Amino acid sequence: MKQLLIETKTKQYPLFLGEGIIHSLPEILRSLSFPRGTKLLIITDQTLEPLYLAELRAMLADDYEVYTHVIPSGEGAKSFEQYYACQTAALEYGLDRHSLILAFGGGVVGDLAGFVAATYMRGIRYIQIPTTLLAHDSAVGGKVAINHPLGKNMIGAFHQPEAVVYDIAFLRSLPEKELRSGFAEVIKHALIRDRRFYEWLRQEIHTLADLTGERLQYCIQKGIEIKASVVREDEKETGVRAHLNFGHTLGHALESELGYGAITHGDAVALGMLFAIFASESVYKRSFADHQFSAWFRTYGFPVSIPASLKLERLLKKMKGDKKAKAGTVRMVLLKDIGEVDIETLDDDTLSALLCEFAQ
Ligand code: NAD
Ligand code: MG
Repeated sequence: MKQLLIETKTKQYPLFLGEGIIHSLPEILRSLSFPRGTKLLIITDQTLEPLYLAELRAMLADDYEVYTHVIPSGEGAKSFEQYYACQTAALEYGLDRHSLILAFGGGVVGDLAGFVAATYMRGIRYIQIPTTLLAHDSAVGGKVAINHPLGKNMIGAFHQPEAVVYDIAFLRSLPEKELRSGFAEVIKHALIRDRRFYEWLRQEIHTLADLTGERLQYCIQKGIEIKASVVREDEKETGVRAHLNFGHTLGHALESELGYGAITHGDAVALGMLFAIFASESVYKRSFADHQFSAWFRTYGFPVSIPASLKLERLLKKMKGDKKAKAGTVRMVLLKDIGEVDIETLDDDTLSALLCEFAQ
């Protein structure tokens, strides 16, 4: 079992990573000083429930008072209704300020259960037990939220967990499209910060089927280390947290235009990264042709061109509506070199010309 230390301004906490480590959960809870008899509320979704919940519950039942609450699977569960239902469950089970929430699932469960923990009785403790590859991104950083019909992640908090217990054995049941979605963020982390990791990915991960065992664990570890270091740097308010947005300017526009659920976040970000690389070549007057990014992305099954059904003007409008934009311009994270990004301001005409050229 690998142990990393996640440091934030307010708190530091351990992240345990390995295959089969869920069996050490009772031990981990003891090491974190949760006394016998502590009330635990496991929040999970309907996909994970039949696969793992009984086993997880049984593992903890000797030492703790265990309750469970199951939410529907998918992004729709990050809603006020599901949030309220979690709070009702916590109240009915009599959770108090000494109780613990276990967020067992992907980014949806993590964000929702984390926000429940952040606000129940003004904040109680929680532990992240991620089950997706994308969760290497969501389980670190302490951002927890639900969606509002007017915007994604609009209601939330910063609330750091007591620990993250990342057992990669859970990822064996993850559908391929979800594995690919999470892998896009792994590639993003490599491209923005770590040339050597990027080179390792190119050498070691030929297809998604290579994402098992030690290779998968290494991807998660590197992804987490990079994300955590960016988040830590930004406590000095250098603005580098925006670098995590690489590929997300077009990515968010694609998700929003196609409708959430029609494309995975990772597929949208992968295509967004290809566009950002294309824009980088123009802005920095350099070529990344040697890297053959499109061909590389295609081997994993990522989309490499904008669906013909989409109107470019609408995508542009969405990109300009991005939170980071100033009037008449778009701020985009561009690739200066492998492992190095910067934020550039593009005016409307430049962006529009680049998008048209990219879409051809
Ligand atoms: P998810 O939690 O919806 O999981 C994807 C799908 O896989 C779901 O249908 C789920 O039921 C299923 N699943 C999960 N684990 C499984 C397993 N082990 N076996 C089989 N099926 C499994 O989504 P996600 O991709 O993990 O996360 C996306 C969410 O994360 C978004 O809501 C996004 O906003 C959020 N996010 C948050 C942060 C943050 O900093 N808080 C960062 C990135 C993303
Ligand atoms: Mg993302």
